[in-house]
Amino acid sequence: MKQKEILLNIQRNYNEDDEIADAHVGTSIETPMRKDAFDLSDDEKIKKIESHFTEIMNILGLDLTDDSLSGTPHRVAKMYVKEVFSGLNPENKPKAKLFENKYKYDQMLVEKDITFYSHCEHHFVPIYGKAHVAYISSGEVIGLSKINRIVQYFAKRPQVQERLTVQIAKELQKVLKTEHVGVVVDANHMCVASRGVGDTNSKTGTAFFGGKFKDAQIKNEFLNYINSK
Ligand SMILES: [Zn+2]
Repeated sequence: MKQKEILLNIQRNYNEDDEIADAHVGTSIETPMRKDAFDLSDDEKIKKIESHFTEIMNILGLDLTDDSLSGTPHRVAKMYVKEVFSGLNPENKPKAKLFENKYKYDQMLVEKDITFYSHCEHHFVPIYGKAHVAYISSGEVIGLSKINRIVQYFAKRPQVQERLTVQIAKELQKVLKTEHVGVVVDANHMCVASRGVGDTNSKTGTAFFGGKFKDAQIKNEFLNYINSK
């Protein structure tokens, strides 16, 4: 291939990649994972990431003998595996215990303003915001803290906001054995605020409405509740 063609190809790939990132679209509802994703133990992953992050910092020209920087590769590696990306590992999925709906409460239950911190999978910088979740019981109910834990579990992955929204909703539908689940997510994307177009004020909203939540009246009841003070 001639030099010019190579350049054109690189340019095209670069543009396509950038378009995917700028549109913040994912490619599937499932987080794309390899089959061998958990062949390495957490400790082995931390060791490897630590050495690669050391290399990144070295390439950037940082002096790793400086006391302030020397521990950074290990801290970053541990944070990735044990904290901010711990939701990649199915072993960390919260086990949801259901309770019988003794009061025969058949209206919607809303858990609003669940704060979450996630990371954009295109830039590995934070996405943070609020998730609002509602469901209508099929006869069993779930502890409120469990809803919060399910949100945190899926947030602790490299994400796109649309996928995060759908993953939370599908998991709740499965756990609660009902189609009637609504999820709304409002989020700030640091990749939009701190780089690229540098827009610090825009927020992104995504929603999933399942079962009765597709019904305009139920949907509005949920949305009105979220928007009320
Ligand atoms: Zn991004």
